[in-house]
Parts: sequence; C-alpha cells; structure tokens
Amino acid sequence: MVEIKTPGQIAKMREAGLVVAAVHAATREAAVPGATTRDLDEVSRKVLAEHGAKSNFLGYGGFPATICTSVNEVVVHGIPDEKTVLKDGDIISIDAGAIVDGWHGDAAYTAFVGTGHAPELIELSRVTEESMWAGLAAMKLGNRLVDISKAIESYIRRQPRPATGKYGIIEDYGGHGIGSEMHMDPHLLNYVTRKRGKGPKLVPGFCLAIEPMVSLGTAQTDVLEDNWTVVTTDGTWSSHWEHSVALTEEGPLVLTAVDGGKAKLAEYGITAAPDPLG
Ligand code: MG
Repeated sequence: MVEIKTPGQIAKMREAGLVVAAVHAATREAAVPGATTRDLDEVSRKVLAEHGAKSNFLGYGGFPATICTSVNEVVVHGIPDEKTVLKDGDIISIDAGAIVDGWHGDAAYTAFVGTGHAPELIELSRVTEESMWAGLAAMKLGNRLVDISKAIESYIRRQPRPATGKYGIIEDYGGHGIGSEMHMDPHLLNYVTRKRGKGPKLVPGFCLAIEPMVSLGTAQTDVLEDNWTVVTTDGTWSSHWEHSVALTEEGPLVLTAVDGGKAKLAEYGITAAPDPLG
C-alpha cells in the first residue's frame, strides 16, 4: 500500500526536507581534505539539533550515525568513523535525513574533496545528478512509477560512455516511498525490467525518494563485513544523488531542494508546485 499524503502532511515533509538541505549545505562545506567522516557526522548532528529535528538514520537497523558517508568505491551506507580521513581527490556521497513532527526527509549528494579530479569523475557525478532530475521531472500526474525508472535509465544511457567502458546503474538499491517512515512502499528501481510491471499510478499526495546510484563500471555490489558498507564489486568509484519529492495537484515539489526544485524542473518544462511554507 502506498501512503498518500494530505497537503498538510506534505507541508510537514517540506519542513523536514529543508532541514536535510541545511545538513547538506553544512556537510558540503566541511568535506575538505583532512576532515574525518566522523567530523561530518558531528556537523550533521549539530544542524539537526539546531532545527529541533530528529535523525531517521541514527539507530535505523542499528546504524550508528546520522548520515552515511560513502567514499570513492563505496556506493552507499558508509559508516562515519574517525579512521576515514578525506584526501584531496576523493569523492564522497553524503546521504542525510531528518524527522520533523513524525515526517521524514531523505536526500544525498556527491561532493569532490579538494581539487584536481579526473574529468570522468566530474562527469560521473553530473550524469548521476542529472538522471535524478530526469526522474524528478517524470513525477507527473498520469505517469506510473515505471516512467520514473525509465527517465533515469534512459538519461544515463543517452550520455557518452566513460573511458572505463560504460556506466553501471546499481541494481541492488533504489528509491522508495517516504512519509511517516523513511523507507516505505513502493520500491523504485533506477532501470526498467519487464519483471516489475508498470507500478502504481502517480496521484496527488504520492511521495518518493528518487536516488540513482551509478558507477564507472559494474552494476553489482558487495556488502562489507560491517554489514553496512556497500561497495562496487570491481572497485570502480560511484556517485549517489537523491531528493525527496511530493506530487501535488499543482505539480511536483522537491521537498529537499531549497527552491523546491523550481530551477532544475524548469529546464524540463515543468513548473514546481508552490512551496507550502511560502
Ligand atoms: Mg533514500
């Protein structure tokens, strides 16, 4: 069953989304050479506390931190610790979340640590981020869930191939419904497979976290012995971008984007729904 939200509930999710955006801004600034991934978690904890928000990551299945910090070949679910010191040339995907009055926000981005990154890494992050926006732009009344998967996959497949061969669209993880819990039905694949059918119709009040994960090689992953850290099986580096989005009568509202998705959705000819918080 998909949880359909009222406009009032979407407004609460917008509040949570803006807290996540604040965590993004603060961790982005702190993700510099010499910082540990635990330092970034400390930054996130501070921002959550400042906003009176709760963490949906901390304690989730025993997860010990408020953000996931996934460096280089780590795809998702990297655990912040004091051993992992960021170095010039690393890339890091930071996944953050917040709960406000019981309503959840969840979003991720990839950042470049320091300078001098290979053009293929810059392009990897761009392609991953843009595929997320293509998916967000498919969050339209009348579409079905599969149209989002299709938009993400076809965006990635339309791009020039990287020197490493081709982009791997990670198969074992995907997007999800979000609302009164962080992870809810439906599961959203970042590619189309005949096995899955078309999925539910997108109606007002439908909320999703859309989150492509793309590597410079394989689509396959392993989980390390800590039972969390997800790495590419071939060691190629990967990128992860995510936003939470609500579909309303007036179009999509990107809950975790400061401008509600206005600027990027306009590139797709889509008008973002007005911000319920003004
Ligand atoms: Mg998520």
